[in-house]
Parts: sequence; C-alpha cells; structure tokens
Amino acid sequence: GSTVGLLGGGQLGRMMALAGTNLGYRFVTLDPTPDSPCGQVADQIVAAYSDKEAARELAQRADVITYEFENVDSEVAALLEELSSVPQGSGLLYTTQHRLREKRAIEAAGVQVAPYAEIRSEDELREAVGRLGLPSVLKTATGGYDGKGQWVIRSESEIAEAYETLSRSGAELVLEQFISFEKELSVIAARSSRGEIKTFPAAENIHVDNILHISIVPARVSKEIQAQAEELASRIAESLGAVGLLAVEMFLTGDGRLYVNELAPRPHNSGHYTMEACTTSQFEQHVRAVCNLPLGEANLLTPVVMVNVLGEHLEVVIERTADGAWLESAAEAGERVHTNAADSNFKGKRTEHTDKDKNTNTNTNTNTNTNTNIAA
Ligand code: ATP
Ligand code: MG
Ligand code: MG
Repeated sequence: GSTVGLLGGGQLGRMMALAGTNLGYRFVTLDPTPDSPCGQVADQIVAAYSDKEAARELAQRADVITYEFENVDSEVAALLEELSSVPQGSGLLYTTQHRLREKRAIEAAGVQVAPYAEIRSEDELREAVGRLGLPSVLKTATGGYDGKGQWVIRSESEIAEAYETLSRSGAELVLEQFISFEKELSVIAARSSRGEIKTFPAAENIHVDNILHISIVPARVSKEIQAQAEELASRIAESLGAVGLLAVEMFLTGDGRLYVNELAPRPHNSGHYTMEACTTSQFEQHVRAVCNLPLGEANLLTPVVMVNVLGEHLEVVIERTADGAWLESAAEAGERVHTNAADSNFKGKRTEHTDKDKNTNTNTNTNTNTNTNIAA
C-alpha cells in the first residue's frame, strides 16, 4: 500500500487517517505535539510545521501529501510540492489563506460574496464603512478562526479602535458588509485529480460565539436552495481546480440569495455528520480525492443533527466516567459520539445540549478544540 503524508496531526487528521487506513493506506504525520490525536493511527514526525528538515523527511516517507489545516507555511508547501506529490497544490492554499484572494477567486467562479473592501488605513476604513454601511465586519485577511481577528463595527465611533486593534499585528484587513442572514449553510465538495466532483448535502449551521454549535442536515431550506448551494460549491471547486475537499460556508438571506462567506480546503467541522449519515464520510472522500480513487457516493442516508461539543464543556461532566459505559448508553439512544482527540486527552462524557428528536439521529461530535484551525 501507499503512504499518505499528513501535515498536521490533529483531530481532522486523525479521522482522515482512520478512514484512509480502512482503504489500505499508511499514514505519517508531521506535527509539533508528541501526543497528537493522530498518534495511535499514524507514524509521527514530531517537529514544527515550518521545520524544513522535517518536511523533507515527510516528503521522503510519503507517496502523496495532504494537510488538515490551511495555514501551512507557504515555503514548506512549495518545498513539499517540489519533493513529493501534493495533489491539492500550494495554489489552493495560497488562495484560501487570504480572505481577499479567496473572495476574488469566488467572484471569478461567478459566485457572490458579501460586498467588501481592502483596508490599508483608518481613512480607507472610514470611507469603506460609509460605502458598505453599518454594521460591517472588519477581518484580518489571514490567520483568523473561530471569529478571532474580527470586529463587528456597529457605529462610527468604533472605527478608530477597531482599526487600531486589528491592524496591530500588521495583518492586512478586509471590511465586509454585514449580511443579516436567515441561515448559514455549508456544502463540502470533493474534487479528484481526474476532475470528478461530488458534493455532500447542504448543512444548516448554527454558531454560538462564532464557533459551530449545531449542524442540521438536510438544511431546513427549499430543495431549490439546497440544489443551488450544492451547485455553487461544485462550481467554485471546479473553477479553483481544487483537489481534495473544499468546504464552502455561505449565508442565505430572507430573499433567497446565497453569499459565500469563506472556504476551507479540508474536512470541515460541519461535515462530521457524514460519518454516520452518508454513504461515504468526508474523510474517506478526501483520501479518495487526493489519492485519485473514484469518489464515493455522497448521498444522505438519514436526516441528522450534529452537536459540536468543545473540550472545555466536556471536562465539566467527564470526570465522573472512565469506564466507557456511557458510550454504549449513548449509542443505544441513537446518538453517536466521536472523540476526535487522543484517548489520553478525552476525559468525559456529555449529555447536555442534545435535543433528541425521534426522527433524527443525533450525531454528537466531541471535540477537544485543541487542534481545529491550527495557526502555523
Ligand atoms: P471559522 O472558524 O469558520 O474559520 P472565522 O474566524 O474564519 O471562522 P468567519 O467564518 O469569517 O470567521 O465568521 C465567523 C462567523 O461570523 C460566521 O459564521 C458568521 O456567523 C459571522 N459573520 C462573519 N462574517 C459575516 C458577515 N459579513 N455578515 C454577517 N455575519 C458574519
Ligand atoms: Mg475561517
Ligand atoms: Mg467560518
């Protein structure tokens, strides 16, 4: 069998490695954490993501390389591409690492984004706020996740402070019009090197404090909107020449318009439901796409609700259990719990938050939030 090299050994990487192992691949990860979630399912190279020697070793040991997060050091990405096969390519990273480049690429695919402006000074911000209106959202162009590096400007009196705070790190900035959306949706598209594209069904996502809390699939929108969302995601994947997964986050407005918020060239938190509810999981699909296997069917087998539980919430409840019995009782109730962390990090069980409904599977994704969206 071939060996897949994985940049990042976090929870998404672990699930990728589990799915890929089932397809007969071996995995080797590069991650700075000695006890990373991938530890039990992959060989490990323990080094900083930006360590060029470690990257060389990864390239040597792997037949094909992929990544589980988008903030890969561009020099490392270029080096890996030179030394090994990186089907996703560094171009996809280059585009999706930067909100302005990403928005231009989405527009080039003929898809709408919220009106936006590049911001290089406080004066430009003032001018753009005048043009785009209030509220509007100031974001760092790079490195943001979980709403970090963002400021919702609600009055002109916040402009100076918002600019001063977000520009402090020297980051480039972008201002977006605030879209008063009715729903947030995401579609995960997969595209293989041979150009085959499949999309998973649109998920309806509810965020709490800018962190994904619940995904509902199918999204509670019309069939037309579902189809449009899926079509738009595959159009972007095609236009970018993406290989692997491309998660497309979008806003749906009351008058039925879809605006793309952002992209992620990797498995997405809103796609964990695919593990129980689809013929092929997003992780298997990603491995299939980068290894140039035929893509699996991405159809929904059952309606599903996924609850994303963060490690900080887990810990509250978990100390009481250690024997694993809770897993069985959860499974009995039709609830599937995925711990994305290494077992040593996983300390508990959760039962709160779960809104049980006879007609839905509650696919509960537990998540120690140590490894998602790692900034390199
Ligand atoms: P992620 O963890 O998904 O990578 P992020 O830090 O990159 O998050 P965004 O996805 O850009 O941030 O924004 C986080 C959330 O903030 C969105 O899911 C949405 O709820 C809200 N938001 C962001 N931009 C806008 C906007 N232009 N209009 C309205 N709401 C917005
Ligand atoms: Mg993001
Ligand atoms: Mg987002």
